[in-house]
Amino acid sequence: MKDWIREDIKAISAYHVQDASGMLKLDAMENPYGWPEPLKQKWLEAMAQTQMNRYPDPSGSAIKEKLRAVEVIDEQYEILLGNGSDEIIQIVAMCMGRPGDVILSPLPSFVMFKMISTFTEKQFIGVPLLPDFSLDLDAMLRAIDEHQPAVIFLAQPNNPTGNLYSKEAVEKVIQAAPGLVILDEAYRAFTDANGVELLAKYDNLAVMRTLSKVGLAGLRLGYLIGHRSWLDEFEKVRLPYNINVLTQASVAFALDHYDVLQQQADTIKQQRALLMEALQNLSTAEPFSSEANFILCRFPQGKANTIFEALKQRQILVKNLHGSHPLLDECLRFTVGAPNENQQLIAALQEIVF
Ligand SMILES: *Cc1c(COP(=O)(O)O)cnc(C)c1O
Repeated sequence: MKDWIREDIKAISAYHVQDASGMLKLDAMENPYGWPEPLKQKWLEAMAQTQMNRYPDPSGSAIKEKLRAVEVIDEQYEILLGNGSDEIIQIVAMCMGRPGDVILSPLPSFVMFKMISTFTEKQFIGVPLLPDFSLDLDAMLRAIDEHQPAVIFLAQPNNPTGNLYSKEAVEKVIQAAPGLVILDEAYRAFTDANGVELLAKYDNLAVMRTLSKVGLAGLRLGYLIGHRSWLDEFEKVRLPYNINVLTQASVAFALDHYDVLQQQADTIKQQRALLMEALQNLSTAEPFSSEANFILCRFPQGKANTIFEALKQRQILVKNLHGSHPLLDECLRFTVGAPNENQQLIAALQEIVF
């Protein structure tokens, strides 16, 4: 039976999610805050109105309208809804290029770009970032020229490094791209950078966002904003009921109360500055500045694995990136949590590294 499984699928390992039961979760860029109790009650009342015996609205038109308003998206652009932005990446990869054609992104970056390229029988090309995690523009332009990628993914800001690429470099990449460029703005709530402003200038650009990092990771809603000529084609590949009724109803409710999520994001940004300062004060830590809700941090030679395990023993789960890419040697990634969570992390680090 196993002979029927594609060799390239057999060769990869499954996306691994760490067991987090009972742990302080600072590994996955989740928003640490819930909703105030009265809001939760209102949401429950809204949920009671949803009809789970009916199929969802296939177009998700109600939440698209609310997204337009909250994110200020002009009517000339289309919106494609996905079960998380992971599904958007999959839809785009399915639609673009022929088997063996190239999907390109800088490395290190979001791992799903490469995984989904494999799933969809595309060839993934990764172009190393410079040691300061900026785009190696010369290398990018050479790779684009050589491989003629169908799609280029740029996470802006990048995960797991947290930095923004310069606007000039991003525009040079878009100008050189023979196919489509997707700006992945998963961390839009934590930065001023806004790729939607570039859509008017470039026909071969689309902007991908998600509600996951701003506080609704469990609902699974990602979306692509772009020109109709591309999105009308992608829409054909989207499965008709990919956004379930509970997600549609909950997202509609959440977007009606977006000020709550926005305030939480602002608090996380303030906490990011405090966590940054605290990490800088640890003499052995080298934190990298971040435009997202996490901070990448390098430790001295041979220390990352030890610190990761010592944090785990203290019931604090972070992301260990050591060994995942040469540029991430001795690096751990910390999600910015609630104030008490960040204090717990810092206290633990002070114990461990000194
Ligand atoms: C978290 C993340 C995503 C995935 O978001 P979902 O909408 O939860 O699938 C996409 N891109 C980047 C860069 C991310 O960090």
